[in-house]
Amino acid sequence: MTNQPYDVLIIGGGGAGLTAALYTSRAKLSTVLLEKLAPGGQIALTDLVENYPGFPEGVTGTEISQRMEEQAKRYGTEIIYDEVSELQKQNGNFTVKLASGETHTSRSVIVATGASYRNLQVPGEKELTGKGVAYCATCDGAFFKEKEIIVVGGGDSAMQEGIFLTRFATQVTVVHRRDKLRASPILQERARQNPKMKFIWDTVVTEISGDKKVQQVKLQNVKTQETRDFKTDGVFIFIGHDPNTGFLKGLVDLDEKGYVKSGEGLQTSVPGLFVSGEVRAGAVKQLVSCCGEGCEAALSCQAYLEDH
Ligand code: NAP
Repeated sequence: MTNQPYDVLIIGGGGAGLTAALYTSRAKLSTVLLEKLAPGGQIALTDLVENYPGFPEGVTGTEISQRMEEQAKRYGTEIIYDEVSELQKQNGNFTVKLASGETHTSRSVIVATGASYRNLQVPGEKELTGKGVAYCATCDGAFFKEKEIIVVGGGDSAMQEGIFLTRFATQVTVVHRRDKLRASPILQERARQNPKMKFIWDTVVTEISGDKKVQQVKLQNVKTQETRDFKTDGVFIFIGHDPNTGFLKGLVDLDEKGYVKSGEGLQTSVPGLFVSGEVRAGAVKQLVSCCGEGCEAALSCQAYLEDH
């Protein structure tokens, strides 16, 4: 347990958290950032970021994540790789308990924990994860050289990652539950023009099966209810995310989906507790806006600490 509370404790090391850390550290506030996996959060799992201003050729998710971490550290941010299991506020200060058993205290907190990918929750998914079922194209794509795979989802992630997967796979079949994609027009156009990509509309995956590795899926047309077996070597699932707010329940106001509600200056219902990025209710889920929110939360936090 640290004797002196930190000024700012940031939970989450994605774009929002790392930007907040950069700002609070440069404001000479003692700052600790807690991250459970690796710097960059979801962005680190993205192959190429093409819509972050200032990088006309795009920048890899790994590179921008490492650079953001380096920049925050340069101004004094301390980074601890561990998972938060509990957050409490007592006598004006916040206390976090980490999975390792360590405890830290802080005068203020910025929550920037983002969101985690959703599961399909169909038979075979859990058992075959890592054996053909995957959720990260950058991490697992290379295992599918010369294979035929399916991608589930119709959003930006499904299109962007599906296009990336055509580097390895001979065919990428997008299975989408509607007949219209949710993805942005530019990604839709690229996916539709890619000769290796095919689409199965109005269809859901109801089962994934195979002997030791994925061999087929059961597909159901949601309009006709017809089912059929479809042979495939892999299933990449990109069906959105759920907020990482389990440790906040009972402490702070969340919306019905579990995202953190915020007011002016990204203040939450608990004084001294701020929120930024994808975990915030109503946030635009883009790297550039998450970084912007990290900056806003940091400045609000600075003003709060000056007043308290
Ligand atoms: P998303 O936009 O929420 O899309 C999820 C997709 O999965 C939707 O097409 C949805 O279908 C489908 N889906 C949801 N639950 C399903 C289920 N149980 N079974 C089958 N299909 C299901 O999620 P995302 O694509 O991960 O994107 C998240 C956010 O990050 C978005 O705001 C996106 O713009 C952003 N993002 C941006 C970029 C970029 O700018 N290059 C890249 C990646 C992500 P419906 O359409 O029918 O709802």
